[in-house]
Amino acid sequence: MKILSAIKSTVLFLLLTLVTQVGGVVYLCYKFIAALTLKKGSASTLFLKKLALFLLLYVIVSFVVVPPIAKHFGRVPLQIIANNKFPLQPRNLFYFVCNRHYVTPELRSAAMQIALDMRNNKPKVMLQYLDACFPFKNGFPLFPHKSHDDGEKLDLCFLYKDGNGNRANSPNFVGYGACELPRSGEKDQAAICEKQGYWQYSLLQKIISPLNATDHVFDEVANAKLLHRIAKHKSIRKIFIEPHLKTRLGLDDIDKIRFHGCGAVRHDDHIHIQL
Ligand SMILES: [Zn+2]
Repeated sequence: MKILSAIKSTVLFLLLTLVTQVGGVVYLCYKFIAALTLKKGSASTLFLKKLALFLLLYVIVSFVVVPPIAKHFGRVPLQIIANNKFPLQPRNLFYFVCNRHYVTPELRSAAMQIALDMRNNKPKVMLQYLDACFPFKNGFPLFPHKSHDDGEKLDLCFLYKDGNGNRANSPNFVGYGACELPRSGEKDQAAICEKQGYWQYSLLQKIISPLNATDHVFDEVANAKLLHRIAKHKSIRKIFIEPHLKTRLGLDDIDKIRFHGCGAVRHDDHIHIQL
């Protein structure tokens, strides 16, 4: 039983560290405090008390302890709730609850300026972000991304309309995996990569696409404007989208917009920007 318990604790520690960076350390603190204080009661009461203790510790660490320490590592959190002054917010709670919304002050400022620009000019849109980086330590990867490890990378949602022509969020609540596929005659980079053996290239699409809303339409005009505005910003040095979208949106002359390589995943479901 002790071995099973140790395996369970190790798996939870690794999983929480992989997904949230600080969750593993919070789990160790929770185990220590729980062993000292939570000993009596029925199994169900103990379970609820332990869960409440872990969540309380996680919230305190994530929202009170982490932000000031992250500042010393040169990282700041992105906006959580958008308003007219900061019109940028995460696609869903997961990204900030899991501490995946930290960037350098330069990237935060660039993202805010781009978001404000998109909010104040036609078409007026509210930008949403997906994964950014963790709060601490260059080189600590943000699973499953290969490159989001230094505070200088951020993924943004493309812009969509619903069946009635109104502004809409990305077609699923995750934000990834709803791909704007190549049309006939357009370059199919995903097929090229998969032919070369890069099986992971469209993996997210295959897993998540059943969740997609079916009436959402990729807004070509708004996305072309967004990408022009991102490319115009002097702090942003690289932008990754799929080659067929670069051509379709008339962006072939923008050198900052590049192909990310077959070793990554497809980028026709989100925009990757970096310093
Ligand atoms: Zn990215």
